[in-house]
Amino acid sequence: MRDLAALPKAHLHVHLESTVRADTVAELADHHGVDVPRGAAAYGDFAQFAAHNGAVRDCLRRAEDFSRIAYEFCAEEAAQGTRYAEVTFTAAAHGERLRDPDMPLEAVLAGLAAGQAAHGIECRVIVDHPRKRSVARLRESVRLAVTHPEVVAVGTAGMEDYPLAPFAAVFREAKEAGVGLVHHAGEQCGADSVAEAVTLGLADRIGHGFRALDDPDVVALLRDRAVPLEVCPSSNVLLGLVESVSSHPLPLLMRAGLTVTLSTDIPASTGATLTSEYQLLRDELGFDDDLIARIATNAADASFAPETTKASLRQDIATWRAGS
Ligand SMILES: [Zn+2]
Repeated sequence: MRDLAALPKAHLHVHLESTVRADTVAELADHHGVDVPRGAAAYGDFAQFAAHNGAVRDCLRRAEDFSRIAYEFCAEEAAQGTRYAEVTFTAAAHGERLRDPDMPLEAVLAGLAAGQAAHGIECRVIVDHPRKRSVARLRESVRLAVTHPEVVAVGTAGMEDYPLAPFAAVFREAKEAGVGLVHHAGEQCGADSVAEAVTLGLADRIGHGFRALDDPDVVALLRDRAVPLEVCPSSNVLLGLVESVSSHPLPLLMRAGLTVTLSTDIPASTGATLTSEYQLLRDELGFDDDLIARIATNAADASFAPETTKASLRQDIATWRAGS
């Protein structure tokens, strides 16, 4: 049995605010006097999940808070054999809340720089935009991306039935400025949301996207345009979107010829790590190491990493596969 922690991994879909260690949340909550529900995360519904996330967000106020969680993210990921990560951060929302547009992102970048140096991992940032927020806010996210080379993409999250059309011009501007686009779609809503993310949203990758399977035309669209999916089984099960990992449509997506990558999305809530997520492929879906190596390679290929990083990941995944 090859060691999945030793598999060189790229992690493409993980929300920084949903990676904060429980003891860090407790410490920051005490410091700032925030009431955060303690203990194991169990959510009756999406609203409870959102309320918990809101309380964690409220614990992030000073530059040192943001730097700390970014640094700790690097430590946790490196321990899981993640070699390269694109971490999603709702930078403009924090900037607006704290009335300091650049501080939260710059503090995160400082924490990531220190964490990368200490833990030998390479990180980039995706700035995300809740769909219900204004076009001006999305434009602010794009500004943050354009002015910080460590930010590789901008993406939308939140209610997938909220239309992307109002943002279309900003997506085009982002693309022209060389900023990647990565949207959540096909998670809460159906295949139409995936098609919208590709056509109007100009998506380079789709967050989740598994509900594309409901419509063969949308599957064909993803395949023709070679748009990879960031599949996050434990998150889908926790949020009640899929009944169990063993019944997750991930194998069907692969069989349909789509490019599947694997991520954790909300690890502090699910308790999953990227290694345990790969372990589920082996234990619950019966994947052999060829398939596991293929998914790991897909993630390297689908990333916004420099070509040298991609090449080294590909080679090291092949070395892992060739070992015993
Ligand atoms: Zn997500």
